[in-house]
Amino acid sequence: APAETPQVVVDAHGLPYLDKKLPVKKRVADLLSRMTLAEKAGQMTQAERNALKSQGDIAAYDLGSLLSGGGSVPTPNAPGAWAKMVDTYQLRAQATRFQIPLIYGVDAVHGHNNVIGSTIMPHNIGIGATRDPAVAAKTGAVTAKEVRATGIPWDFAPCLCVTRDERWGRSYEAFGEDPALVTAMETVITGMQGAPSGKDLARNDKVLTSAKHYVGDGGTEYGSSSTGSYTIDQGITKVTRQELEAVHLAPFAEAVERGAGTVMPSYSSLDVLGDDQGPVKMHANAEMINGVLKDRMGFKGFVISDWQAIDQIPGDYASDVRTSVNAGLDMIMVPTAYPDFHRTLRDEVTAGRIPEARIDDAVSRILTQKFALGLFEKPYADTTHLGSIGSAAHRAVAREAVAKSQVLLKNDGAVLPLKPSQKVYVAGSNADDIGNQAGGWTISWQGSSGKITPGTTILEGMKKAAPEAVTWSKDASAPLEGHDVGVVVVGETPYAEGVGDVGNGHDLELSAADRAAVDKVCAAMKCAVLIVSGRPQLIGDRLGDIDALVASWLPGTEGDGVADVLYGRKAFTGRLPVTWPKSAGQLPINVGDTSYDPQYPYGWGLTTLKKPPASGELTLRAMALAAKLLEVTGRGDSPEARELVSQARLLVQQKIGQRITAASAKPFADADHLLLSGKPAAAVAKLTAAYKVA
Ligand code: BGC
Repeated sequence: APAETPQVVVDAHGLPYLDKKLPVKKRVADLLSRMTLAEKAGQMTQAERNALKSQGDIAAYDLGSLLSGGGSVPTPNAPGAWAKMVDTYQLRAQATRFQIPLIYGVDAVHGHNNVIGSTIMPHNIGIGATRDPAVAAKTGAVTAKEVRATGIPWDFAPCLCVTRDERWGRSYEAFGEDPALVTAMETVITGMQGAPSGKDLARNDKVLTSAKHYVGDGGTEYGSSSTGSYTIDQGITKVTRQELEAVHLAPFAEAVERGAGTVMPSYSSLDVLGDDQGPVKMHANAEMINGVLKDRMGFKGFVISDWQAIDQIPGDYASDVRTSVNAGLDMIMVPTAYPDFHRTLRDEVTAGRIPEARIDDAVSRILTQKFALGLFEKPYADTTHLGSIGSAAHRAVAREAVAKSQVLLKNDGAVLPLKPSQKVYVAGSNADDIGNQAGGWTISWQGSSGKITPGTTILEGMKKAAPEAVTWSKDASAPLEGHDVGVVVVGETPYAEGVGDVGNGHDLELSAADRAAVDKVCAAMKCAVLIVSGRPQLIGDRLGDIDALVASWLPGTEGDGVADVLYGRKAFTGRLPVTWPKSAGQLPINVGDTSYDPQYPYGWGLTTLKKPPASGELTLRAMALAAKLLEVTGRGDSPEARELVSQARLLVQQKIGQRITAASAKPFADADHLLLSGKPAAAVAKLTAAYKVA
């Protein structure tokens, strides 16, 4: 605990709710019975720490929670400073009469990404490309350990968006376009939180998760605004009820199963076709929050609003507060408006427009998670694992994830893997830029180019692999004779929300400088192009000149992982988590569309495995695994079953990589989908039909 002694108004010691031997339910009920309306309203209020008018406001408004929004960092921005900062606020909460601890939250969406020196993981789209639930679990565990070590018990992650149109700027936050893939990657929740029961939450290496953004954030329509502005971010998702269930809700059902502690609604509106209601803001959507999430799915955690999102609900502020809380929101993120919110909430309850029972339910849900996290017993940072932040062990986990996330789209003449003896000419805007390879939500909200945090760039990784043989020129000036291969690393510059890299246009085109670099190098020598981006980029018109093409996604700080596959220390095994379009005119394009003619289909990815199993053998092995899987799934959701699903999936994917044509994409994508959905028997049937194996 910090040196300064908290000024305790009433010593809560001895009250039943402080007795950790009592069941959480009893502790919550006891504490709740003692609280005033103002104290309850405070628990439901989350302020941005940067926007606090004074630290005294923590006690004055009995604040239940603080957050650091993107870029709201302490000075210096170092792990120890984070822990101290959080403790300083906690000290204020400990000086209130019931000493209810604050719950501090951050967006650690790819590692503890606000902190300089932390391990930055690939963004979710890269994790989706690994298709490896074990990788997702490990990266989640590392992230949780780094976050909790700085005294922060709550992470606004993972994003469970199912991205249906890559013009959406947050596509990179999605594991992919197939709900089954998104669902399979939810091992990340278990990695972060531990057991679904919440029994691990008090550990000093676990954090509470937030499944976001509920629901349909990845399904918004493009360019639907009458004003002409692009509303694809925070816009309207128009879906049939069946599509809503199968595509957008399914991942949240899994999150509830895995015990995700909180859920964050989406800024977007939902328009269920055929129900004649028109679009409803998700923060006002009682049917989806009270009805589907809490009643039907049985979600027991608490619902946290998105940043200032209730302000977007039509009507005055009192109506925003009333509508959102009555719809089932339990805690509201009111970064600066916390005094207003606190007052309005109390007034609405006093006037009988929000039932007191609703407030008691919300506060009980919040307190339940605080008890589960052990915050009443240990409110201050446990810095035991501070030294693990950015450690070699953690970077090794990220590096493995990076290597497995690389998708080899094309490899004419087996240009890849490179040999360390080959003379390689490296060029392009994203070859030597940690900021660009980390993307948004890194150190600042939008992220930024340049040396923003320690790590290894792709170029540095390559130089380590072949110290004598790599020549570098960012703008590909005068690609000289005497090189065996050119490697051009191009792509996007960082962004977090909205429509993405507007410098490059919404049309997913490479910048003029990137196009020039590709043209120069590929005209002069055999070349491999790596695209470092949060989503597919349109490259079709240049494909003829490119020998090898790699989707590198946003790999984060471990460029070594990219070098691992480039130099063949690891095989390429990543698969496309989204469809790679030919042209902007094809968007939105998703596997399963009736007319589907992409550049590369969903699930595509070549492998450089030295001895890829023969195709017949692959199918048989996949089937054998699937059969075994059927046996073990009878015993429920065992780690063994999950491992088998993952192995069978990999085999099917290798199959896709070797054989696929646009025409044959469908049965394999279907089989893959079925395996991801835990339906091995149906997957086996698909494979059998496709390969005519008896
Ligand atoms: C984003 C959320 C995030 C929140 C808090 C919002 O702008 O939509 O994903 O959790 O900010 O930083």
